[in-house]
Amino acid sequence: MNIILLGPPGAGKGTQAKKLSAEFGIPQISTGDILREAIRTGTELGKQAKPLMDAGKLVPDELVVGIVNERLQAQDCKPGFILDGFPRTIPQAEALDAALGKSNRRIDGVVSLEVPESDIVERISGRRSCPKDGSVFHVVTTPPKRAGTCDKCGAGLIQRDDDKEDKVRERLSVYAKQTAPLKEFYKKRGALKTIQGVGSPDGIFAEIKKALGKPK
Ligand code: AMP
Repeated sequence: MNIILLGPPGAGKGTQAKKLSAEFGIPQISTGDILREAIRTGTELGKQAKPLMDAGKLVPDELVVGIVNERLQAQDCKPGFILDGFPRTIPQAEALDAALGKSNRRIDGVVSLEVPESDIVERISGRRSCPKDGSVFHVVTTPPKRAGTCDKCGAGLIQRDDDKEDKVRERLSVYAKQTAPLKEFYKKRGALKTIQGVGSPDGIFAEIKKALGKPK
């Protein structure tokens, strides 16, 4: 099953993508994670992406399209994949269609997670991330066992630069202008499933599975 998760920053795409990945045994492809890893390891891609990401702006289409096209050719994507944070613009969605078409694949479902803006700012301002392994916590709703420390690898948790409030507002505005039009794009072809992304992660996951026609 080839799935896209759409939604503003902080909607819970990463959390739900991980759950879908574990349940269906297909990889989560997060362009944000790939770009952060490129920054961490100091690659050319990372150097180009960092100032844009820090400012809450999008990385150019050709860079992310290149990353995703290459990733989709990997063997582990054969049974399916979950795109988390891609596409984010109409040109990215068109490039994705073209790339999948070449290998006779298509998108089976697009899940749009809807969350009110006030919830988003609250969620993101409490988010703390592990700079080493990418684990994500929230100071109130999903705190680590030891404050400020990653449960998995013990590294000190940080607040992502782009998770600070002014950057979050910029990311929300970018989402409204450049990414939200994708809902109409996928609705027209009957692929869009709209899910309320408020409530317990497990409850939201159950709704997503139902919408994708995969009830437990
Ligand atoms: P995320 O972790 O998905 O919130 O992504 C963090 C940041 O990475 C975004 O604010 C963008 O700067 C960049 N990014 C991630 N995915 C994309 C994409 N598909 N197109 C452009 N920029 C992206």
